[in-house]
Amino acid sequence: MSTELVWFKRDCRWRDHAALNAAAARGRVRCIYVIEPSLWQQADAALQHFEFVRESLEELDQAFRLHGGCLEIHHGELPEVLTKIWNETPFQRLYSHQETGNQFTYARDIAVTAWCKAHQIEWQEFAQFGVVRGLKNRNLWQSAWEKHMAAPIQHVETIQFWQGANSAYLHMPAPAHLKHNPARRQKGGRSLAIATLKNFLNTRSLGYRGGISSPLSAPDACSRLSPYLAWGCISMREVVQHTGKHINALSPQASKHRAGLQAFISRLYWHCHFIQKLESEPEIEWRNMHSGYDGLREEDFNHEYFDALKAARTGWPMVDACVIMLRETGWLNFRMRAMLVSVAAYPLWLHWRPVGEWLATQFLDYEPGIHWSQLQMQSGTTGINTTRVYNPVKQALDHDPHGRFVRQWLPAMQRVPNSWLLEPWKMPIEIQKQVGILVGQDIALPCVDLALATTESKNRLHARRKQDDVKAGKKAVIEKHASRKKSSTSKSRRSKIDEQLGFNF
Ligand SMILES: Cc1cc2nc3c(=O)[nH]c(=O)nc-3n(C[C@H](O)[C@H](O)[C@H](O)COP(=O)(O)OP(=O)(O)OC[C@H]3O[C@@H](n4cnc5c(N)ncnc54)[C@H](O)[C@@H]3O)c2cc1C
Repeated sequence: MSTELVWFKRDCRWRDHAALNAAAARGRVRCIYVIEPSLWQQADAALQHFEFVRESLEELDQAFRLHGGCLEIHHGELPEVLTKIWNETPFQRLYSHQETGNQFTYARDIAVTAWCKAHQIEWQEFAQFGVVRGLKNRNLWQSAWEKHMAAPIQHVETIQFWQGANSAYLHMPAPAHLKHNPARRQKGGRSLAIATLKNFLNTRSLGYRGGISSPLSAPDACSRLSPYLAWGCISMREVVQHTGKHINALSPQASKHRAGLQAFISRLYWHCHFIQKLESEPEIEWRNMHSGYDGLREEDFNHEYFDALKAARTGWPMVDACVIMLRETGWLNFRMRAMLVSVAAYPLWLHWRPVGEWLATQFLDYEPGIHWSQLQMQSGTTGINTTRVYNPVKQALDHDPHGRFVRQWLPAMQRVPNSWLLEPWKMPIEIQKQVGILVGQDIALPCVDLALATTESKNRLHARRKQDDVKAGKKAVIEKHASRKKSSTSKSRRSKIDEQLGFNF
């Protein structure tokens, strides 16, 4: 009987795992995870990612043990690890999911392809999301996404495991150089992924509509599935199909709940839509999506402003509170992430790459395809999206008018009277003395004048946008990356999607 090697990467699950399924149908299965030193040396890696993966793999290993197998952990670079395994016990095929990762994983996959060719090994790679490898254009992308999500959830009834594996329990000490593991982050593992989905569908999703923008309500109202999707503890197909069933079971009166879940499904679609951009053009991890914006911010990078942002000392309470919440929990809702990047890109005029590297280590759910596309979109370098500038004072007024959020994460704000919550730096010195807060010390002074700096940065960006060569370059970006999704108000289209997905909502 043949030995089939399954390589686990960002797909820490056993259910709806196409690679495992295909291998189990063919022969004896040997399952490996490789701790690649160079991968964890990358600037976007953090200890929280490693620990989350470790927690998830522990559960995977336990599940395999119930069926007489185990997950093997190997240390080393690829393809050397494959050579070592192959020398021990030759295998015929390598199975894995496709990965839309960073420049390192892209180059490593090229090396693995060459190794497989040299050793006459067939490498079968399976789509993990609704992302299409080798996509020519976006025209049929939506139907490909729908087809992927509507396919049956795969489950292997019996796996015959290769028996030569060292059956020691999984041991994964973290590389010593890795940093940042928030105490209050979500924990890894498939059971927690399932519990989070159930809890969201049954209870929390009632607050999705209207609750996802404020950082006060968002931690409960949002699904919180992002790390489980990013590290593959649950498949996107499982989430889409369970949500579809849930929507179908709602009573006709539950219109707000239904609308919320439909909006949630749209975000699951965006997940793959954004990853597709990096899949189709891996260079956007490093360079502007639209080259007409090259040179816009690169030379002006102000390290003091960047340090202030990272240290939660920009002086804008909403921004600083978000930085601290993110540091403590590894998570922030979409609007607040967008606000952080907008503040970095406009008033602070920071190039998106260093900001994105730092945020990648802060986000437990770091997913390169979504991350770099969003960084560029919020910084105005895609050339195809309208300029989105989030004013942190307005965001505080809209989403934290009573200061509960900023006071939770910035203790000094507890002493600031309500009337100065939005712009505490404007507090007269007598009031500062009265309440025992010194602006510039207990609370940072804003790095720049918000209104002036924002106007100036928008003018610079718009001046670029008006240039003929920049206008001309827009078409190619639209052709390659823009969504062809029809408006959600188009009823006939909606029902076609529902029909294909087997939903009636
Ligand atoms: C600058 C920036 C960087 C981001 N980086 C990441 C990242 O590295 N990883 C990541 O998963 N999300 C990222 N997002 C998108 C979004 O903020 C998170 O997906 C969301 O906050 C995760 O929480 P949730 O699972 O509760 O979201 P929900 O609102 O419950 O959404 C469900 C799922 O849909 C997907 N999703 C939601 N919003 C978006 C979006 N705007 N674009 C693409 N997919 C979306 C995610 O997979 C999410 O888990 C980023 C957004 C910005 C503005």
